[in-house]
Amino acid sequence: MSGTARPITIVGTPVLHSPCRPVERFDDELAALVDDMFASMYAANGVGLAANQIGVDLRVFVYDCPDGDDVFQKGVIVNPTLVLPEGQERNLDPDDEGCLSIPGPRAVVGRPDLATCHGFDVTGAPVTVHGTGVLARCLQHETDHLDGMLYIDRLSKAARKQVLREFEERRAGAAT
Ligand SMILES: [Zn+2]
Repeated sequence: MSGTARPITIVGTPVLHSPCRPVERFDDELAALVDDMFASMYAANGVGLAANQIGVDLRVFVYDCPDGDDVFQKGVIVNPTLVLPEGQERNLDPDDEGCLSIPGPRAVVGRPDLATCHGFDVTGAPVTVHGTGVLARCLQHETDHLDGMLYIDRLSKAARKQVLREFEERRAGAAT
């Protein structure tokens, strides 16, 4: 692992709240960014990380995350497109979710329990990842990031307020 861990951007930072640009060049610069993203994710004990979480507005995320069989799946997806089940295939799984960009609190978010993500690897070759379990949630959470959305944007007003209050309290506590 040759990457360097970079600071994680925190809720309120503009790059987290607007859509990222598609990657156009699959070059050494992209490979170096992905190395840094893996290093940053592991340093923060995360299971997924989007580029804008280290301040880069490009559509790429990395993950190292357990699937529905508790087997860790690791990878990178550039320019992801998410496909979610519809109709009878669609089962909402209400489970706890947190985010490295809102350290501390967690909240229940209902998401489909299956997700397929199409995109490209770091060389530009097409990839498709079928996610079950936590990985299904992770693929959705990370693609949301690249669309400028955080999980709190999917909560009720009250639940969102609660998460942000807890985050602020912990941050104030840590500062003193
Ligand atoms: Zn997140």
